[in-house]
Amino acid sequence: MTKIPFQAESQRLLEMMIHSIYSHREIFLRELISNSSDAIDKRYYKTLGDSNLSFDKDSFYIKVTPDKEARTLTILDTGIGMTREELESNLGVIAQSGSLTFKREHATQDDHDLIGQFGVGFYSAFMVADEVTVVSRAMGSDSAYQWESSGVDGYTITSADKDAVGTEITLKIKSNTDDENYDEFLEEYRLQSLIKKYSDFIRYPIKMEMTQHRRKEDAEDEYEEYREEQTINSMVPIWRKNKNELTDEDYASFYMEKHYGFDKPLTHQHISVDGAVRYNAILYIPEKMPFDYYTKEYEKGLELYSNGVLIMGKCADLLPDYFSFVKGLVDSEDLSLNISREILQHDKQLRLIAKNIKTKIGNQLQQLLKSDRAKYETFYEAFGRQVKYGVYSDYGTNKEALQDLLLFYSSTQKALATLDEYVTRMPDDQKYIYYAAGESVGRIEKMPQTELVADKGYEILYFTDDIDEFAIKMLMNYKDKEFKSVSSSDLGLDADEREEQNEQQTEEYAELFAEMKTLLGDKVKEVRVSKRLKNHPVCLSADGDLTIEMEKVLRAMPNSQNVAAQKVLEINTQHPVIHSLKAAFADDKEKLTLYTSLLYNQALLIEGLPIEDPVDFTNGICKIMV
Ligand code: ADP
Repeated sequence: MTKIPFQAESQRLLEMMIHSIYSHREIFLRELISNSSDAIDKRYYKTLGDSNLSFDKDSFYIKVTPDKEARTLTILDTGIGMTREELESNLGVIAQSGSLTFKREHATQDDHDLIGQFGVGFYSAFMVADEVTVVSRAMGSDSAYQWESSGVDGYTITSADKDAVGTEITLKIKSNTDDENYDEFLEEYRLQSLIKKYSDFIRYPIKMEMTQHRRKEDAEDEYEEYREEQTINSMVPIWRKNKNELTDEDYASFYMEKHYGFDKPLTHQHISVDGAVRYNAILYIPEKMPFDYYTKEYEKGLELYSNGVLIMGKCADLLPDYFSFVKGLVDSEDLSLNISREILQHDKQLRLIAKNIKTKIGNQLQQLLKSDRAKYETFYEAFGRQVKYGVYSDYGTNKEALQDLLLFYSSTQKALATLDEYVTRMPDDQKYIYYAAGESVGRIEKMPQTELVADKGYEILYFTDDIDEFAIKMLMNYKDKEFKSVSSSDLGLDADEREEQNEQQTEEYAELFAEMKTLLGDKVKEVRVSKRLKNHPVCLSADGDLTIEMEKVLRAMPNSQNVAAQKVLEINTQHPVIHSLKAAFADDKEKLTLYTSLLYNQALLIEGLPIEDPVDFTNGICKIMV
């Protein structure tokens, strides 16, 4: 029979499997059992939802059978089974597999480790077998089919006989080599320990015939062997277990077993609530941002179980968008099994659970921030943006709950600071929480606008994320202290002798600056004496609510209206350029036009804004050079 070739992607993965390193191979069993368990979940759920179908709970199981003589290992399940088409699309291609998408993007250096840690589903069978046969009969079908493959050269699908609905996978275990032992995957005790290690919590019995010994009748000290089918796993789902009996490692391996992520969990919480609504949940905060987190492919949600039966793989309604990075599951006996997805959305119980979970996640993060700052900062690096987004979204509904989770880089601490830390450090005479927005810490550090505030000895928070300023505008104030951008026209600093001087100067330069404003036209709202500059000759600031940083963000968005901040060109009258300006104003209008344009463009550059006509700008510089 001609073989159907695997798709290129599948072929690559298969090759990786075949050449994977030895120590990782044992996870194939976990992967196959987990697929079986999913398949039984699907059948169980369908059966429960259809009153015409009766069922016997004992008929759902997984059975593992080694055969040393034939060198085969069989994994049988009474799950939903696969039709011919499903065999073809599920096992012939791995297009949809999340694992593979991940591999496509990240593979190269450490394929081996990825396989070891996470497995990649069905194909892992080829790590221990040189031939795999799948016989399956789908629920509701009379016919069965056989899928067979011995690796990279493709597979065949033929008709087969199978009495019961479900799937039977037979692995032809590889022969031992000089330095590799495959026999162990045919040993009862080895298999038993693998099942215990990786699949103990599977809710359906994993059965295996085990060799037992008993005393011979009528004979002392003589024993005989007999075989007995045993259920190997404890079947208690981890979320139903007592927290005290579980270790961090148990939670971490459950995370991997469930393929929640390709990283390790940073932290977890195990919740049992027994009040107005009853549920158990295990929630994880991943260590790293998933590679597809900011793509359309990423789906948020928690697994949803109703009294131990999986009813939805990713229930999005359980998580607010800003906590979309949280992984895990919820099991509640208060949810009806036959509930449809549409009704579920409006289910009162579910909404209560979701609200409860939202609070629990917030509290957990708060706790983490208090108890393990370094770990929290790892979290913040990956998902801090989400916290800010949470402050900003839903018109600020959640801002109070989230504000203490915010961290910003502090000019004085040279490290991340919470708003509370900032406010606690504020000297008595400081009225506002100052911030400076820019592309990076390095860039903000050089911003002329920060000079005066910094000079006063005040701490400045650096906003380097697009969303920062928007979130802070939503927050408006923290502990009654308003936020103030170092670029805002009024810095709210106490009047001092500078202020008086300033007034005098405003008068003194009124005509010059009015002329410069005329030269610049609509580009600026005003040219003004700067109250904040010390060493730099110019800077831009903004009047009104829209800052220059916000203008940049908004303009970068698709279909942005032509939003523009009301820009003010500030001139440092202590700087020697003022003399040149005065002189030009007095007797060389052409020079004044040139200087004004150069200063304005410099201010744009410092602000990180594009200059309108770079050629004109450089020509201008050349003009003064010659
Ligand atoms: P994944 O489990 O990540 O989807 P796999 O390669 O392990 O990837 O499996 C591919 C698909 O094949 C599964 O999603 C499932 O639809 C189907 N499948 C695998 N094993 C079984 C099984 N024992 N019974 C029914 N369907 C199965």
